[in-house]
Amino acid sequence: MAIAVLNPPDDQVLHIVPLRKAIALLRRNVVEIVEVEDGSTFGPYVVPRVLRLTRAVSMVHQLEGRRPVFSKAGVLRRDRYTCAYCGRSATTVDHVVPRARGGRSSWLNLVAACRPCNQAKADMSLRDCDMRLQFLPYEPDWI
Ligand SMILES: [Zn+2]
Repeated sequence: MAIAVLNPPDDQVLHIVPLRKAIALLRRNVVEIVEVEDGSTFGPYVVPRVLRLTRAVSMVHQLEGRRPVFSKAGVLRRDRYTCAYCGRSATTVDHVVPRARGGRSSWLNLVAACRPCNQAKADMSLRDCDMRLQFLPYEPDWI
């Protein structure tokens, strides 16, 4: 079951959450019930159909818990200062999809890279430069 979560200033739907998540939000007192599902209960709870945050949030992510703020130093730390292309010690970060080709600076598009690999790859895509990632970038769950 999908439950809408509204953001108070304008009651825009901020998020659609499953029932379990909705109950967790209710227990944390971060949402109030706007509409209930007729006659349904979930343990001691009425089943909500629409929730509203008790405080407005500016970022969807805050609902999910705190997320690590993206940084180049964070990318190096996530990848343990290991070049994603050759496995040697890395001191720089590389855009997997180059910025020149619309690649963004984000957890999912940056990997640690040694200087030679970074220079060799330059503005090429993975296919063009025939280099392979030895591991895939991901969004870390630490702050
Ligand atoms: Zn390398």
